[in-house]
Amino acid sequence: MQHPTYQHEGVKTNSAFPIPEKMKAWVLGNPEELHLIEKVVPVPKRAEVLVRVDAIAICATDLDVISSGPPAMIQGGLPFNKNFTPGHEYMGTVVALGPGVDEFAIGDRITVEIHAGCGQCKRCRMGMYTSCHNYGLNYGDVDKGHRANGFTSDGGFAEYAINNINTLIKISDDMSDEEATLVVTAGTGMYGLTELGGLIAGEGIVVMGPGPIGLLGVAVAKALGAYPVILTGTRDNRLETGRELGADYTINVRKEDAVKKVREITSGKGVDYILECSGAPEAINEAGLMLNRGGKICLAAFPHDPALIDVAHLVRNNIYIYGIRGEGRSATHRAHAFMAEKRFDATKIHSHSFMMDELPKALHYARNRIDDAIKVVVKMPQRQAELAKSKTL
Ligand SMILES: [Zn+2]
Ligand SMILES: [Zn+2]
Repeated sequence: MQHPTYQHEGVKTNSAFPIPEKMKAWVLGNPEELHLIEKVVPVPKRAEVLVRVDAIAICATDLDVISSGPPAMIQGGLPFNKNFTPGHEYMGTVVALGPGVDEFAIGDRITVEIHAGCGQCKRCRMGMYTSCHNYGLNYGDVDKGHRANGFTSDGGFAEYAINNINTLIKISDDMSDEEATLVVTAGTGMYGLTELGGLIAGEGIVVMGPGPIGLLGVAVAKALGAYPVILTGTRDNRLETGRELGADYTINVRKEDAVKKVREITSGKGVDYILECSGAPEAINEAGLMLNRGGKICLAAFPHDPALIDVAHLVRNNIYIYGIRGEGRSATHRAHAFMAEKRFDATKIHSHSFMMDELPKALHYARNRIDDAIKVVVKMPQRQAELAKSKTL
């Protein structure tokens, strides 16, 4: 029997997962202003499912969206006062299937990636759906169906969210909710490495910046067989976490000359790849000096101001630069495969948990790195009740 409160033409539900008509959701008001309100539970369309959000991690990009707007874009403009729900690094349970969906079943545990491109532009056709040419065009008479949950469509700081089936990854029961929220972060590192050349067994890499993407970038590079994997940063405890995730060498740039040290480690040659996750203004120049000729730089972070770059050095040395957005080319699936095989323990970067109604506090911890917060995870009451029940059985 279908649950009486949530019935929609062509949408499949299951009484084991009752869905209410309304849900709790955080929405963005003015900059820095979040309100917990009641919203109507959304309805999946063709190739979409309804996800009950079970846990969601906070990302630095969420903080940017909440304070200044971009890269979120709602109805062609800034995301403020548009009833918009941010949050994009979530996992949960499939609870309703849109018309024609048989790729997933109700009750499947899943984690998500963010971008479902329009599927019809040049880049989407190439698998580069995070660079969709129709970014944010999902309203009115310019509706191309683009979704980037938490950026151009409603995200996961809510009890339920809509996901295109192409943004879902089925996870096994032995992956914890917390770990599952980190798949997309590992996927970003994986996408960067994919764009640089894919398989990097035996090649040297420097990861600059031990934030969440940098730390999981280290883990993914190691799992791909890179050697040496060198991590640079300013804080010893973060560098230590990097070692636990697979860094062969770490360099504290406050204490040592990173370029000199990288040259020493590589017998003067330099590394093949740089994954730049620090956003420091000097990063590209330093990266250029750490590389061997013909090496490649992936930019996964950005300085807030324009940076002065020694272009001549890059040209003379045939150095390639790649900017990446998000987690394209299904990289999240490959990152998940490593995590499912326990090739690294992503939960080493999970530092704090809060409940959904404590979101402002959780954001405060993430923004100000209180108590050395790295990844802060927000948990949902429904799921916690379910977990408590299964423990007492
Ligand atoms: Zn993110
Ligand atoms: Zn597209």
